[in-house]
Amino acid sequence: MSKSIRNVLIVGGGTSGWMTAAYLQRALPAGVNITLVESDRVPTIGVGEATFSTIKLFFDYLGLEERDWMPECNASYKMAIRFSGWNAAGRDFYHPFQRYETVDGFSLAEWWLRLHKDKPFDQMCFSIPQLCENKRSPRFLDGEVFDPSVQHAFQREHIDRKNTLGDHKIQYPYAYHFDASLLARFLMKRTVTAGVRHILDDVTNVGLRADGAIGHVQTQNNGALEADLYIDCTGFAGLLINKALGTPFISFNDTLLCDRAVAMQVPEDIEAEGIRPYTSATALSAGWVWNIPLYGRKGTGYVYSSRFATPEQAEAELRAHLGPAAEGLKANHIRMRIGRSENAWVKNCVAIGLSSGFVEPLESTGIFFIQHGIEQLVSHFPDLSFNPSLIRSYNRGVGECIDGVRDFLTLHYYASTRADTPFWKATKEIAISPALADRLALWKHRLPDAMSVNPAYHGFEAYSYSVMLLGLGYVPEGPQPAVASADPTRAEAAFAQVRARTHALTTRLPSVVEYLTHVAEARGELTQGGARIYRRPAGPVPDEARS
Ligand code: FAD
Repeated sequence: MSKSIRNVLIVGGGTSGWMTAAYLQRALPAGVNITLVESDRVPTIGVGEATFSTIKLFFDYLGLEERDWMPECNASYKMAIRFSGWNAAGRDFYHPFQRYETVDGFSLAEWWLRLHKDKPFDQMCFSIPQLCENKRSPRFLDGEVFDPSVQHAFQREHIDRKNTLGDHKIQYPYAYHFDASLLARFLMKRTVTAGVRHILDDVTNVGLRADGAIGHVQTQNNGALEADLYIDCTGFAGLLINKALGTPFISFNDTLLCDRAVAMQVPEDIEAEGIRPYTSATALSAGWVWNIPLYGRKGTGYVYSSRFATPEQAEAELRAHLGPAAEGLKANHIRMRIGRSENAWVKNCVAIGLSSGFVEPLESTGIFFIQHGIEQLVSHFPDLSFNPSLIRSYNRGVGECIDGVRDFLTLHYYASTRADTPFWKATKEIAISPALADRLALWKHRLPDAMSVNPAYHGFEAYSYSVMLLGLGYVPEGPQPAVASADPTRAEAAFAQVRARTHALTTRLPSVVEYLTHVAEARGELTQGGARIYRRPAGPVPDEARS
């Protein structure tokens, strides 16, 4: 009879290490011992602050309420990504966490192509862009989410399917921005208190058994650490999966040209500026800049291609982009390993986080990959026989997920009408996969639907593809013939309804600062201390927000 896994060793204490520890502690039987060893000499990557809307499931699964964890991590809300400078027309657009409505069998995007092509598609089809422009919170002061039908459906779904990220069908209307190091610290305190063993030490060597599996992990001061299952969370180093087990790394640099970043943390006066509930992705000469507003500061950085800019040039361009706000701030230069380990699970070792794979953070998928990796591990959890079918299925799911996101991000560059610098010209000369080429040829004539997007689970649905193509300027000439001949009355009513609803929500929802301050006030935390900063917003809460 097979024996159960009794000891799990997680190597690495970045976001992936602590998310894995917290999740496994919740998911595995009480008799399984979890140890996490991390170096206090090798720093964590120190970025990774914007998330994907499925992250709500992670916190729900751990039983964490927003009011408990968000203030601890200077967290705020994210309802969309705003893309600036990504099309030749120079028009900004939003990629929201919101699907198109369907009218008479066709999405509002199809109706937009027929009826309102002269107006911004995102503002016409969705409420979220206006909520973002007006820095509104996705929650009313009483805690209700602005779209209660989504909230209730999500809760129902979630209760039924806690541990199956890939299956859930509800699009939650927001994600979070948070300080990644504060989140790691928060999860560490929680999991260590609940019994995870924490060792601060350097791993100096990885010993292999005769069958090629990992036998022990040698540390500087704590000797050899042995376990049944090893989780590699050592970041780009891939200490266990790549270096010890020799798993090849598949680079994506042939299609995703950006391989470096320079990052900064910029203090922000939220009383004066408010907090934007969206991530910005602003295209520059050799890549793009992220802007992630947290409670009290923003995280920003320039993701660029080393073929088209040196680190000095990139830092200078980032500083020029930020203006006086960047004066005196330290820049953190990062090399990015873009691609994935051929197999994330080999013998008795599973790689999660940057060691498993990473694509540039254009759609905030790094933490999503971590969550996906952990959830898949739990649903494929082995015993000591390490059944090869479980391993194969895990590797297929994780690989397809990362590859799917790679293709989606490739589309961001390839389909963009921008080609004004050597970098942007080069993004049109890459060799895209035959599957993506086929899809793009089709999408010249009709918008993506569920049947034409990559069917493997990778977090993005047809609506996201359609939003990106319309925003990038890759627009079909007209709607499908069936839409062109259909009665538009109900579609026009739906557009009017979006406008009316957007107006009502913009008026009634509190601002993000008002909402988060309200939460902090309820916790009695309106003081400034340590990394946690709470300040009262300027002015009274508007009357509409009280109703
Ligand atoms: P790391 O943070 O690198 O942690 C590695 C750990 O391994 C550390 O604790 C280190 O001490 C330990 N370690 C290494 N070697 C040893 C050793 N020899 N002995 C002991 N311990 C060791 N993701 C998002 O979801 N949203 C974003 O907005 C986003 N932005 C990003 C921007 C950039 C520029 C980059 C590069 C990544 C971004 N990511 C983002 C990805 C995100 O940062 C990572 O997915 C996340 O931080 C997880 O990292 P990690 O824990 O795998 O690795």
